[in-house]
Amino acid sequence: MATKQFKAESKRLLDLMINSIYTHREIFLRELISNASDALDKIYYKTLMDESLSFDKESFYIKITADKQNRILKISDTGIGMSREELDDNLGIIAKSGSLNFKKDMENQDEIDIIGQFGVGFYSAFMVSEVVTVISKAFGGEEAFKWESRGVEGYTIEPVAKETVGTDIILKIKEDTEDENYSEFLEEYRLRGIIKKYSDFIRYPIKMDVTLR
Ligand code: ADP
Ligand code: MG
Repeated sequence: MATKQFKAESKRLLDLMINSIYTHREIFLRELISNASDALDKIYYKTLMDESLSFDKESFYIKITADKQNRILKISDTGIGMSREELDDNLGIIAKSGSLNFKKDMENQDEIDIIGQFGVGFYSAFMVSEVVTVISKAFGGEEAFKWESRGVEGYTIEPVAKETVGTDIILKIKEDTEDENYSEFLEEYRLRGIIKKYSDFIRYPIKMDVTLR
């Protein structure tokens, strides 16, 4: 399978993310929950507008699954999902709202400050992850696809099995080092704290499923 390259400016942002100081790392969860919420808004709106679609409020939610033993943190949503093309277009380049502000303000400000302030988007997942896997099935699509990347080298996309419409963002959390702790992002209390701090206003239920050992 061919590995596709990220665009140049995306590489720069990725580098910045990966080397970001530890105090900013926790915002990756804010970014992924905000994307999940946007995806839910989109499907919610479609469902409201189309009378032929059945409407069940219970089916719109975000679910966080932490598996400490396997160092996997998963952020799932029942939102609009992404097709193969959308995975390629939306996750392969930096061109979206938050990231645009980021670039504009980059010239005058300390780069590190910008990470805390702006919506820096999907790429922030690489601050805490060795590998980022996105499994998604688009609303109205037949097939599901898996996008996967270890960071700067690029990403792959291939078909995968997924029954339901929506997206799973699967993070393989980095190993701890002498002075870096990433395991905290697999701890329930820590995840709850981050969600409380940054995502309290999210309109959809955020469920949590934790495997302690
Ligand atoms: P922004 O949210 O500012 O557009 P991001 O980098 O956070 O930028 O996300 C890039 C794009 O990837 C989004 O605009 C959206 O199209 C797509 N995307 C990311 N996460 C999801 C998701 N969970 N479900 C559907 N689409 C998503
Ligand atoms: Mg976003």
